[in-house]
Amino acid sequence: MVNTCAVTAEAVRKSRQQIRRLRRETPEARIVVTGCAAQTEPATFAAMTEVDTVIGNTEKMQPETWTNMAPNFIGETEKVQVDDIMSVTETAGHLIDGFGTRSRAYVQVQNGCDHRCTFCIIPYGRGNSRSVPAGVVVDQIKRLVDKGYNEVVLTGVDLTSWGADLPATPKLGDLVMRILRLVPDLPRLRISSIDSIEVDENLMQAIATEKRLMPHLHLSLQHGDDMILKRMARRHLRDDAIAFCEDARKLRPEMTFGADIIAGFPTESDAHFENSLKLVSDCDLTWLHVFPYSKRIGTPAAKIPSQVNGKLIKERAAKLRAAGDKQVARHLTAQIGKTHHILMENPHMGRTEQFTEVTFAEPQTEGEILRARILGTQGTQLTA
Ligand code: SF4
Repeated sequence: MVNTCAVTAEAVRKSRQQIRRLRRETPEARIVVTGCAAQTEPATFAAMTEVDTVIGNTEKMQPETWTNMAPNFIGETEKVQVDDIMSVTETAGHLIDGFGTRSRAYVQVQNGCDHRCTFCIIPYGRGNSRSVPAGVVVDQIKRLVDKGYNEVVLTGVDLTSWGADLPATPKLGDLVMRILRLVPDLPRLRISSIDSIEVDENLMQAIATEKRLMPHLHLSLQHGDDMILKRMARRHLRDDAIAFCEDARKLRPEMTFGADIIAGFPTESDAHFENSLKLVSDCDLTWLHVFPYSKRIGTPAAKIPSQVNGKLIKERAAKLRAAGDKQVARHLTAQIGKTHHILMENPHMGRTEQFTEVTFAEPQTEGEILRARILGTQGTQLTA
């Protein structure tokens, strides 16, 4: 089973490559392709002779899809089983059961997205936004804590839109507060990528007062120039991003930020790009996810005539990554001599509250949170 990603053309290319490799290595296997690329371009995969079945994102969560494919199933199955994802309004029960390492659990509380950023294919793979009710999330987290998990990460495609489809339209901050109140034994709660312009007052309150909410936020910023942000149909401006980082740091000085930034969006001039590059220091971002712009057929940005040439996109992405590397080095050096609480992911590696990796020469207990002094740095890690 190949679970594909559609976020960039490169991700789709790699999925196709992987399918061909699997077919060469296992000529007798049945190859089923699913995930967001299968959902957004089923014909691409159906046309591959290596592929037996293409399954959509909803169908892959339905048991009958798989029982119908079992060797003892009598009857016909279609090669392509991909329905209209936009008609899906329910979250599947599976959404809350994701696990990461043995020390950290991922709980998906939301799926899909109602926005239509002009570069983004994700809504066509995941459908519209839907949320898991707070009570269900709390019960799941209680169970995870009972099993011994010390950290839970809340995930979603557009996490800050959590609650908009639930009765009384609660906000993400309400969910965070509720989890921390009702699961007092949960030592660490993290939230994954958020849209800073949609952060509510309760989330800011939680950042200020709840030490169990980890001081690390990954922001979906995408660009640092107002004109490009408008062309991307983003809902914030550059100053909003800077103000959010300043406000969050005032409430929690140790806060670190990660961010998604796209290099080479169509029409991006040198001046536009400089504004993106400058955003790295203006927001004091640490962990950058740099995406060279990838044209996704079916999105409005793909139709903009002035696309930036590939070589320039790569150069700009490299400049952003270099700026990110400097920020990481600065962050790491600033930790030397400090004491951190580190959640051990394996006997020799754990992560600080700010999600920075720490290595230990002596083996430690996996899954445990320990207090240690940072001695130095090693590549992109700390040593303790
Ligand atoms: S908010 Fe995020 S997932 Fe939704 S369309 Fe924009 S970039 Fe894509």
